[in-house]
Amino acid sequence: MGSLWTEVQLLEADPDLAPNAHAARSIIARIIANGGEVSRSEIVSATGLARSTIDGHLQVLIRAGLVEDAGIGAIQRGRPAQSFRIAQNRGVVLVADLAVDQFQVAITSLDKRVLGQRTLAINVDLGPDIVVEMISQSFEEMMTELSISADQALAISVGIPGPVDSHRGVVVRPPLMPGWDGYEACKFLAERFDCDVIVDNDVNLKALGEARSLGSESLPLLLISIDAGVGGGFVSESGLLLHGADGAAGDIGHMRVGEHSDVLCACGNRGCLSAVASIGAMAARLGHATGSTVTAHELISSLARGDAATVNTVREVAATLGSVVADLVNFCNPARIVIAGEVTFCSDDVLSQVRSVVYQQAQPLATRNLSIVRTELGDQAGLIGGMVSAIEQVLSARGIQFHTRPSGSDMKPLGRT
Ligand SMILES: [Zn+2]
Repeated sequence: MGSLWTEVQLLEADPDLAPNAHAARSIIARIIANGGEVSRSEIVSATGLARSTIDGHLQVLIRAGLVEDAGIGAIQRGRPAQSFRIAQNRGVVLVADLAVDQFQVAITSLDKRVLGQRTLAINVDLGPDIVVEMISQSFEEMMTELSISADQALAISVGIPGPVDSHRGVVVRPPLMPGWDGYEACKFLAERFDCDVIVDNDVNLKALGEARSLGSESLPLLLISIDAGVGGGFVSESGLLLHGADGAAGDIGHMRVGEHSDVLCACGNRGCLSAVASIGAMAARLGHATGSTVTAHELISSLARGDAATVNTVREVAATLGSVVADLVNFCNPARIVIAGEVTFCSDDVLSQVRSVVYQQAQPLATRNLSIVRTELGDQAGLIGGMVSAIEQVLSARGIQFHTRPSGSDMKPLGRT
């Protein structure tokens, strides 16, 4: 029986682009990771590589402990075929999804089984030294409980609710995270755990998780998250997460929305989408309309009840969001837009309003096959996306080069300087 986690698929690079042995091994390892148990002939037909070449690569992957012999599988061409699977006990990936008021952490095997998972309430205002220390301790405690040794941590992926420099894994001027500007999250974790570390924006990882849990017919995929802020993540038609030049791509929360140009945003500007359409902004708007103080939690529960004033407020905000989404649709023509956040779990109001504005305002060719839906992975999307990014890093050409490096090599884990 599969789970939300085990059903996700890794991106298989185009075999024609394999320039060297590490890239070829990366392709073979990902085919095996996606296939469960895969025979030599299946790898031959998927890659077009010669049987003897594949044998050589398989031997290296098996020696590195990344792939293992799965025994004799189904009968092929009249004889039983030896099959291979991704190693089940070679190592794990450590994943964290940080929000402004909590973090979730998980440890999974390379074959995508969840070995441990926990959620801790925090306040991100405590600053990176305390929060990242708590995340690191959670990883270490879970590894001890699961009897996982330090050298079995193969990669770490962390999602952060703010802009992240995608080259250096550094947090850059995050509006919702005072005290985090310039924090070298990647370097800290790579030095502590001595393995490859990926630090990315949390919404990017949610988009990646969602995209990998769906087929290629759902690409390009744009995920919009409505939470303490509003964010976006985009996965292209070839399955790649869009980072842009520096990692800022998709951060739609600070686009200006004309009719709300006076509303102050946490970033210091006025009239940003986040200042109008975040959960907190919706609650404040409802409070203003009803002459009371409304918390984000109260907004969600009154929306779930179908309270008329709440539905009106939420639909007004969703119309503003819909206009921004229509512009984005015209720009990048996604096949699927996923709107994530509690406000979409408890009612259809946001989705139906966004749909109505987008179909009205975007170009017909761009909306012909477009679907606008809620997330399939719920509040696990960020962790699942983190797992995908970590396993894809381990099985990347660079990851395989690192895990098959000769003794005495001076190659360092990603993130260590
Ligand atoms: Zn802003």
